[in-house]
Amino acid sequence: MKDSDTMSKLVTPEPLNLIGNEWVPALSGRVMDVVSPIDGQPFAQIADSDAADIDAAVAAARAAFDGGEWSTLTAAERGRLMIRLSERILDHVEDLAQLESRDNGKPIQQARADMKVTARYFEFYGGAADKVHGEIVPFLKGYNVEVQREPHGVTGHIIPWNYPAQMFGRSVAPALAMGNATVLKPAEDACLTALRIAQMALDVGFPPGAINIVTGRGNVAGQALADHKGIDFISFTGSPEVGVIIQTAAARNFIGCTLELGGKSPQIVFDDADLDAALPVLLNAVIQNGGQTCSAGTRVLLQRGIYDRVVAELKTRFEAVAASDSGEDAVLGPLISAKQKKRVETYIAEADAPLLARGTVRDDAPEGGYYVAPAIFGPCDPHARIAQEEVFGPVLCVIPFEDEAEAVRIANDTEYGLVAAVWTRDGGRQQRVAKALRCGQVFINGYGAGGGVELPFGGIRKSGHGREKGFAALHEFSHIKTVVHNHG
Ligand code: NAD
Repeated sequence: MKDSDTMSKLVTPEPLNLIGNEWVPALSGRVMDVVSPIDGQPFAQIADSDAADIDAAVAAARAAFDGGEWSTLTAAERGRLMIRLSERILDHVEDLAQLESRDNGKPIQQARADMKVTARYFEFYGGAADKVHGEIVPFLKGYNVEVQREPHGVTGHIIPWNYPAQMFGRSVAPALAMGNATVLKPAEDACLTALRIAQMALDVGFPPGAINIVTGRGNVAGQALADHKGIDFISFTGSPEVGVIIQTAAARNFIGCTLELGGKSPQIVFDDADLDAALPVLLNAVIQNGGQTCSAGTRVLLQRGIYDRVVAELKTRFEAVAASDSGEDAVLGPLISAKQKKRVETYIAEADAPLLARGTVRDDAPEGGYYVAPAIFGPCDPHARIAQEEVFGPVLCVIPFEDEAEAVRIANDTEYGLVAAVWTRDGGRQQRVAKALRCGQVFINGYGAGGGVELPFGGIRKSGHGREKGFAALHEFSHIKTVVHNHG
């Protein structure tokens, strides 16, 4: 449990929305409790908004984009504001991290790292804002053709609770860099850092309507944003089920969308792999953030020659992991909610594969928190439900394979396709397998669950489509206009 001194320093935001640079209550006056996963106790409130609040936010964004001060800034000026915001976040890593940890339950060390990554998003995209150039296309004699990148206009952003601050940066920063005006509906389960960072954006001088935030329930405020006729693009991260709803709404409004919907990411370990390097990464890829990471490495594929040795090591390492509060020495914190805890425990109880080992929940973990002991299953049939479905918890599946062809077949044989890793010293195999894997990102002899602001990230099939991060996100948040000039 955090000591009372630390707790007293937490300043929770008021239950207000940010609309046109004003902090306002939901028009209905409704609020909802925010519960900390650490002890299951309410500790703050947020606005419980509905379609009327979304209307107001979209109108404020529209005014900002269509002639407001935001629309008059040059790309360099937008970038400078974003870099100032990045610096402001870095100045407040500790208090933001304390808030994130209380709100989301993640270990404080992870929360601190998350805040630095959030700052990095604004730094990277701030620096990139004035570096997106157009093209000149050679065409007929007497013509000049320019290909320009333009912002969409008003962009909607719906993000999940697993990395509330990071997701804010990941989704909103590239949209701002391109000159869009944004409306964010963060997740009702954890969104307090997004509100605090939005206040920092006002403090560093963002003009009205560039960033609007409306909190509330997914099926009310989120649905209203997705359906809104006033948005020009929508970016969504969350479950595949809601992804279908978002894409359907986007289709009805004839707008584009990006969907990042999770995965069942494989890590393939061949007999010749450097196991000393691989083992800690295999564990961390599923323990980090309680396994509540879209790109968690949840399937470990082991070649027969090393199967017994690696399984024995993983068992020992899993048994040593104890879920605890989010204090300084925490490795695995609580899951986000009672609902998520129940979902993960049901997967563990009903798993259609042998249980190899479980970790523990520490005796001093606070009453009422959502703690789950990690679990490792194997050998799993590649088609077992536990090896196919996204659990979103600290649950690892181990699957044996004979040769390269079988490894690739198993790795590709889920509905998802987000991230994968290949562990081998064989250079040719590294290239062959990376090429054969059907997903959006492959790591060779490493794994970065979501890591790397510079690296284009996203999936295929049930993992979604479109790319975030890197320069790819700037392309998603803009469209091409071709200007054909007949100068004779
Ligand atoms: P969710 O998809 O319901 O929520 C994600 C976001 O969408 C939240 O902001 C939510 O308010 C919003 N939302 C929900 N219903 C909506 C609707 N009808 N219209 C518009 N917005 C809506 O995810 P969840 O219930 O919080 O988690 C369920 C499962 O989703 C998890 O167990 C996990 O498997 C998956 N998930 C994936 C990610 C990821 O990063 N890919 C993140 C969170 C959850």
